[in-house]
Amino acid sequence: MRLARIAMAACAVVLGALPASAAGVDKLYILYCGEAAAADQSRWSPGVNVGVPIELSDNCYLIHHAQGWFLWDTGLADAVAAAPDGVTAANGALHLKRTKTLAAQLDALGVKPAEIKAMAISHTHPDHIGNVELFPQVMLYVQKAEYEWPGEGGAPRFNPNHPVTLLEGDRDVFGDGSVTILSTPGHTPGHQALLVRLPKTGAVVLSGDAVHFKDNWDNRRLPSMNTSKEQTLASMQRIADILAKEHAQLWINHDKPQSDAQMKAPDYYE
Ligand SMILES: [Zn+2]
Repeated sequence: MRLARIAMAACAVVLGALPASAAGVDKLYILYCGEAAAADQSRWSPGVNVGVPIELSDNCYLIHHAQGWFLWDTGLADAVAAAPDGVTAANGALHLKRTKTLAAQLDALGVKPAEIKAMAISHTHPDHIGNVELFPQVMLYVQKAEYEWPGEGGAPRFNPNHPVTLLEGDRDVFGDGSVTILSTPGHTPGHQALLVRLPKTGAVVLSGDAVHFKDNWDNRRLPSMNTSKEQTLASMQRIADILAKEHAQLWINHDKPQSDAQMKAPDYYE
């Protein structure tokens, strides 16, 4: 027993000397990745708040782990920033805007796209996958169900040349429990959320679009566009259970009041 313990301690010391086994997250930056306005929020809550306008945030999250940078979600395409008044989408139901690019924000932090070690997107809607190809050689973690979900006209949702790790469930990205991809299908077939364990802030779950804003979370409402109602409700419950177990906060990507109250890059959460 004692010998085993000493042997394990010795291994830990040796492994600790290798950068590949360096553990833990020390910084999480929230990056502005666009914004949206809709004239009718019942798009996300059928039959409720019909005709009530809503504004939504759209964030990306850059996480610094001892083994390197990890990017969660990529927001609206940087090209949208070329239209200062924004663009309309979803047959006019949405007005989308980007007042600064993801590339410029990374540059301001001194992070080159090629320096990012790995990335993941919550799902393949355009306000989340817009800049995946800013990082053509960065390993992308995506659920197999999302990867294989046919796009418009049966087109693939990803550039087939992009390096990818296909997941069928959760994934502890760095092997130390600090960054864990959570399989939370329902909004799309392979939707995923992210659990980040920060040393000072504590545990945080980044929602993706498992829920769009707090009112829908509190009332378990879901948009009619979701691919599965049952899966969505099960995923919301799963997230609620994880929040309770981890004493974690839920950071809802598109909830503008919550997002407005959060620190944005260059400030960061520790
Ligand atoms: Zn979505």
